[in-house]
Amino acid sequence: MSTTPTLSVYNSLTRNKEEFKPLVEGQVSMYVCGPTVYSDVHIGNVRTFISFDVIYRTLLYLGYKVRYVRNITDVGHLLDDGEDRISKGARKLQLEPMEVVQKYTNGFHDVMRTFGTLPPSIEPRATGHIIEQIEMVQAIMDNGYGYESNGSVYFDTEKYIADQPELYGQLSGRKVDELLTETRSELKGSSDKKNPSDFAIWMKAGEDHIMRWNSPWSEGFPGWHLECSVMSTKYLGDTFDIHGGGNDLKFPHHENEIAQNMGACGCQPSRYWLHTNMLLMNGRKMSKSEDNSISPAELLSGDSKHITQPYHPMVIKFFMLQSHYSSTLDISDEALLAADKGYRRLCEGLKTLEGLGLSAKNQTPGARDAELLKLLDDIDTELCDDFNTPKAVAKIFEILPLINGYKGGTIAADQLSADALQQTSVKLQRIFSDVLGLQSTLDDQSGGGKALDHVMELVLDMRQSARQSKDWDTSDKIRDGLAAAGITVKDAKEGSTWTIN
Ligand code: AMP
Ligand code: ZN
Repeated sequence: MSTTPTLSVYNSLTRNKEEFKPLVEGQVSMYVCGPTVYSDVHIGNVRTFISFDVIYRTLLYLGYKVRYVRNITDVGHLLDDGEDRISKGARKLQLEPMEVVQKYTNGFHDVMRTFGTLPPSIEPRATGHIIEQIEMVQAIMDNGYGYESNGSVYFDTEKYIADQPELYGQLSGRKVDELLTETRSELKGSSDKKNPSDFAIWMKAGEDHIMRWNSPWSEGFPGWHLECSVMSTKYLGDTFDIHGGGNDLKFPHHENEIAQNMGACGCQPSRYWLHTNMLLMNGRKMSKSEDNSISPAELLSGDSKHITQPYHPMVIKFFMLQSHYSSTLDISDEALLAADKGYRRLCEGLKTLEGLGLSAKNQTPGARDAELLKLLDDIDTELCDDFNTPKAVAKIFEILPLINGYKGGTIAADQLSADALQQTSVKLQRIFSDVLGLQSTLDDQSGGGKALDHVMELVLDMRQSARQSKDWDTSDKIRDGLAAAGITVKDAKEGSTWTIN
């Protein structure tokens, strides 16, 4: 292989594609905002986490030592009406808040495993870092960027804007005038701010608020934006290389993170901001309330009016990787059916290549070796161009006709050397499994393959959770959906088992 191309990334902060140069040569520090664990992750969330998984994997492939921190948000992320998301989950399910957190963290991990993503290096929880959060609030106050009002502490956006007129709004592209007048969602009844744009970094808990900790200002809880400022810098340092999340987090979450870090330590947290784009359905943002959403479990079981069959997690992932992480992506039955066919062709091509790589005998250079090896190099070039998975996958699909032609005899045996075929086989297998995080589905076709076992484990776990919360509708829906797909579930005291009819 020729030398690895230079990695460039699109930095949302500067709105430019830039050469990626980590702070410490050979090492990358990356923070990605994790899920708020008050309900099951939806397939849009999954797209974002798959995108960052492939970014993580590509960095590892390029030889970097990576510290990848992805948090769990388990307090402080408020709904528009001011209620804490976790408290709402606890009320709805009649569970302890930490039971809710555990239940949906487990569910999130199951889904991530099903889609073949790697665990992060560190997965901090916000509630495990209350002391550090109190310390950062104090630092912000000591530097004059925070003020206390009735037990809550607010970030003083007016002062920040006065001191850093170019910075507030830079990431999200908002104008300072708009920012100053826009009201943030805050805890109900809190109107003690100097400016509508000031946001809470510590919130005094109301009497009915269950999640609360002692602090110098009140018994309360931290603000969501503050948590990420604290967890990222605790594990990666005041300044680190990459900060990621969906582009819906640019404002206010990430904009406020930058403000807090500037307020606490006078420095920008991240050097490169990477944002994924939204997964849409029927051309619109997914929304449960508008009956325009589909869950990972529904996609895997086929139990949804939006799709005509169950889809393998690798097919869903392949579908996602065929678009760039920064583009919107519309999920539909037609698109998934096409991905299903394309994925099968890819797996079959790789299997053929593996056989050829092992059996090819031609030890002399072939006239088409250079063409094949150039396509292999092109894959690296595309991956290094802001992690362009769709173009990298397209290069693999350009290689497949050479492989199939060689096998079918339309490309003569002396046109490709055994060495070129072996190199191609080894490299594509690495790209397929190590970088894209895919697994072949060919072995599953006879039924009962490893991946199916995995999917069934997840689906039955979800059904078990539904049964525990006495959500009989969902539990029956899953059982009936599986029956329609030819899978019978039997419930027993020890748990549920399944068989393919
Ligand atoms: P949340 O649990 O709501 O904080 O979201 C977890 C991650 O999923 C965040 O990075 C969001 O930006 C991202 N996200 C939310 N909705 C979508 C969507 N429809 N498509 C892609 N990513 C999303
Ligand atoms: Zn965050």
